[in-house]
Amino acid sequence: MNKKLAFVLIIVVLSIAVIAPGQFTKKAGAPETLQIALTFDDGPSEHTSQILDVLQKYNAKATFCVLGKELEGREDIILAAANAGHQIIGHSWEHKQLKFATEEYIREDIRKTNETIENIIGTAPKFFRTPYGEFSPKIRRAMEEAGLVQVQWNVDTLDWKSQNSNSIYNMIMNNAENGAILLSHDIFAATAAAIEIAIPALINKGYELVTVEELLGETTAGRVYRSKGVEIK
Ligand SMILES: [Zn+2]
Repeated sequence: MNKKLAFVLIIVVLSIAVIAPGQFTKKAGAPETLQIALTFDDGPSEHTSQILDVLQKYNAKATFCVLGKELEGREDIILAAANAGHQIIGHSWEHKQLKFATEEYIREDIRKTNETIENIIGTAPKFFRTPYGEFSPKIRRAMEEAGLVQVQWNVDTLDWKSQNSNSIYNMIMNNAENGAILLSHDIFAATAAAIEIAIPALINKGYELVTVEELLGETTAGRVYRSKGVEIK
């Protein structure tokens, strides 16, 4: 064996020794998948389509918590969202506080909102988000009777307060964590603008953007979920 060949062989052996352990480590344990659920409340609105376009561009999924009264005239937007794989759930008919409403009002509000959604998208929502994230024994009973899972959030982007795209973007990026449910609203131009930069940034950080249903996995009707694995008792 000449010196040159021996040198090449040594390099090859060293390379295998250095590279191989890393490769085996990666293969042995699959990397943890980071998942996050973006939720958009109070729509649909004139800004919803812009958000849907961004989601489609990055093959990301989200959940739209719609108001019954906003659906008339915007049925096509919500149907397009459902057909694109996004989750559509009720957020009450007109954003009244349910905590102080009668049980009869709560039941009727949920029924009317969900029926309107089902008439548009063809399937009945399994989740519900109350206005202001309110929960009470009365609300829980109504949800359980309707077979609905109540979903809240653990990260508030405060878009309703700031209506500033930089601030909303920072709130998303600074508070993003595996299993989080983020609250925002598809009724503000600033939210739509923030989402345009936040979605690719989240994907760059390794996040998969999924619906609430996909994020939470197994759930029970009548219970209140804040984020993956976290319930409000
Ligand atoms: Zn709301």
